Amino acid sequence: MEEKIAKLREQAAELIQQKASSLSELDDIRIRFLGKKGEFTSILRSMGALAKEDRPKVGKIINEAKAQIEELIAEKNKELKAQALADKIAGEKIDVTLPGRNVPMGHLHPLTLTLERIKDIFVHMGFSVEEGPEIERDYFNFEALNLPKDHPARDMQDSFYITDEILMRSQTSPVQARTMQGNEPNAPIRMIAPGRVYRRDEYDATHSPMFTQVEGLVIDKGISLADLKGTLELFLHQIFNENVGVRFRPSFFPFTEPSAEVDISCVMCHGKGCRVCKGTGWLEILGAGMVHPHVLEMSGYDPKKVSGFAFGLGVERIAMLSYGIDDLRLFYDNDIRFLSQF
Ligand SMILES: [Zn+2]
Repeated sequence: MEEKIAKLREQAAELIQQKASSLSELDDIRIRFLGKKGEFTSILRSMGALAKEDRPKVGKIINEAKAQIEELIAEKNKELKAQALADKIAGEKIDVTLPGRNVPMGHLHPLTLTLERIKDIFVHMGFSVEEGPEIERDYFNFEALNLPKDHPARDMQDSFYITDEILMRSQTSPVQARTMQGNEPNAPIRMIAPGRVYRRDEYDATHSPMFTQVEGLVIDKGISLADLKGTLELFLHQIFNENVGVRFRPSFFPFTEPSAEVDISCVMCHGKGCRVCKGTGWLEILGAGMVHPHVLEMSGYDPKKVSGFAFGLGVERIAMLSYGIDDLRLFYDNDIRFLSQF
C-alpha cells in the first residue's frame, strides 16, 4: 500500500512538472489524482481491507502525498498563469511604426463659402440675418409684395404650387414681409434673408429649378436712393474687388419704385468685352429699388414716416464669377473632383 502511494505521488509529480502545458491540462491531472473519483479517493476507499491499527498510519501517508501534489499543482498553476499573461501581452503589442489610417477631412461647399462671405459683409454693416420657411403661403410670396392674384408679373416666375394657397417660395422676399409684419409699426429694419428658392426652370448651365438667393431690406426714417447706392457699391467692392465698376440701370419690379438693375464691370475681361459678358463689358449682378409705398402700407408701415430700399441677388451667380465657374450644375452634381478644389 505504501509503495503504491509513493508511486502515484511520483507519477503525479512528473505529470504536473513535465507534461502539463496549459491550465486545462493541469486541471485534468488534478481531477485524475485528487478528484472525487480520482486515484487517491479509490485508495482511501480500499483502506477497509487494512488491519485496524495500520489505518491511521496509511491515512497520514495518503494525506501527506495529497498535500504535496496540491502544492505542486498550485506552483504550476502560478507558472502557467504568468506564462499565459506574458503570451497575451506579446500578442497584443502595438506596432507604433505602422502608418496611420488617413481620415479625409471634409470642407464647406463653394456655395456655402460664398454665402458666408456675403453674410459677413452685411453683418459688418449692421444687418441682421433672418430666415423663413421654404414652403410659403401665396400671400407672403406674392400678395404682400404688391403682386395680387391677377398681376401679370406672376407669369414671369412660374412656381411650384402645392395647393392654390401654398407653394415652394419663388424668392426670399416673403421673409421681408414676415419680418415687417412681426415688428412694431414703423420700427427700423436692416436685414438680409438668405435661402433656397424654387422656380419651374430648365436645368442647364445657367438655370436650375432650385437656387440660392439673398435679399436685403432697409427701412428707417429718411432712407434714400443714395443709401441704396452706397450700400450696394460697398458690398460689390468687398465681394469682388475695390476696382470693379458698378452701374445702375433703370428697371421695373412690382415691389420697388424706382427700381434698378445693378451691373458690375466684367470680372473676366475687365470691361473690354468677352464671351462671358457677351461683348458688353458689363455683368448683371443684382436687382434693387426703393420699397414701393404700397408694400410698406400692406405690412403696417407708414410711407409718410419711413422709407426703405430692397435688393436681391443670386448666390450661385456670385460664386460662379468669383471662382470662374461656367456651369451652374457643378454646384449640385456632388462630384468630389469638383468640390475638393475649394
Ligand atoms: Zn467680359
